[in-house]
Amino acid sequence: MTILPGQTIGILGGGQLGRMFAIAARRMGYRVHALDPTPESPTGQVADYEVTARYDDLDAARRFAFGVDVVTFEFENVPAETLAAIEEIRPVFPSPFVLQTTRHRLREKEFLAKNGFPVAPFRRVDSVDSLRGAIAGLGTPSILKTAEFGYDGKGQSIIRDPSEVDRAWNELRAPVGVLEGFVKFDCEISVVGGRGEDRLFHAFPPVENVHRNHILDVTTYPARISAGVSKRAIEMAQEIAAKLDLRGVMCVEMFVVGNEVLVNEIAPRPHNSGHLTIDAFTISQFEMQLRAVCGLPMTASVPLAPAAAMVNLLGDLWHDRTPNWPAALRDSSVKLHLYGKQTARPGRKMGHITATDDSLERARAAAMSARDALTQAAI
Ligand code: AMP
Repeated sequence: MTILPGQTIGILGGGQLGRMFAIAARRMGYRVHALDPTPESPTGQVADYEVTARYDDLDAARRFAFGVDVVTFEFENVPAETLAAIEEIRPVFPSPFVLQTTRHRLREKEFLAKNGFPVAPFRRVDSVDSLRGAIAGLGTPSILKTAEFGYDGKGQSIIRDPSEVDRAWNELRAPVGVLEGFVKFDCEISVVGGRGEDRLFHAFPPVENVHRNHILDVTTYPARISAGVSKRAIEMAQEIAAKLDLRGVMCVEMFVVGNEVLVNEIAPRPHNSGHLTIDAFTISQFEMQLRAVCGLPMTASVPLAPAAAMVNLLGDLWHDRTPNWPAALRDSSVKLHLYGKQTARPGRKMGHITATDDSLERARAAAMSARDALTQAAI
């Protein structure tokens, strides 16, 4: 079934990913309904219709489903019962199975390991004693992560010495965690790709990611990796999408160690590291999600520039005054994206800047200096 312009797409979650999806969908003449617990959400501000309801309000979820033609999501922690209630009324893409597998870190790791995808060594931990045992097995440094509800480095702590086990367990504040061996990677990359009704996978080329405090800071295209590593990374993403029988967009974050590629994490939706596709590719990751969900043709998205860089704008930039927006907009290779969030908090993703250029170094420098300009005093 093809959902055509003029029809209505429902999106669960009201964050920036939904906002950029809604902008792509509305540009192509679709109507968008957004559901989020908070009114005036980043997505709700640009949607045709905003529903304010808790994710566990099944009546609200059913009413929402009756008002749309197809449902997708931008937020991974929608309860399984809500998705099941919606799926009885309208198709949901990606399928609730994909969401269930990827939103739980331990389930995701077990799925990857079972299917032969290389991952960092990991152990399930559910008590301070099991953590002690896991540390004895994996050694230090290791990273302890919550199994659920972790994002942007929340719910993660590095254990550098076995004496830190009690501290790390107390900080976790969750019944189940995953302990991962620390990977001394050469670089981090990600592959974003989409798979539509015909189940053919279309990937963007790998991009390179630099994190600061476990939060994505800078993404650059193209990733500085060998052709072999690039091919392997795309093949792995394609195989994961096939194993999940994905219909939608997915991002696979990976660690590159020499010629090896380890899978870190899967997100069954557009991803922060794919934001540069809006300005640097013919079809953005959000249009790809739209095409996949609506059953429109999926075609390869090709670069519009040889190189691009994206830098995140976190709430920290606001700490004592409004950022100097005009100063960041002097360079025509720079594009500003803001998410309409009312309150800036340290670590909160408020927007991003993308720069495109013929050279990677120049694209990165342009994006960085535009961000630096935000903290210059206004003249
Ligand atoms: P995650 O939330 O798992 O994506 O982790 C956020 C970031 O923390 C990653 O992108 C890495 O920079 C770092 N990180 C997470 N897990 C590991 C690991 N096992 N070894 C080394 N660095 C890691």
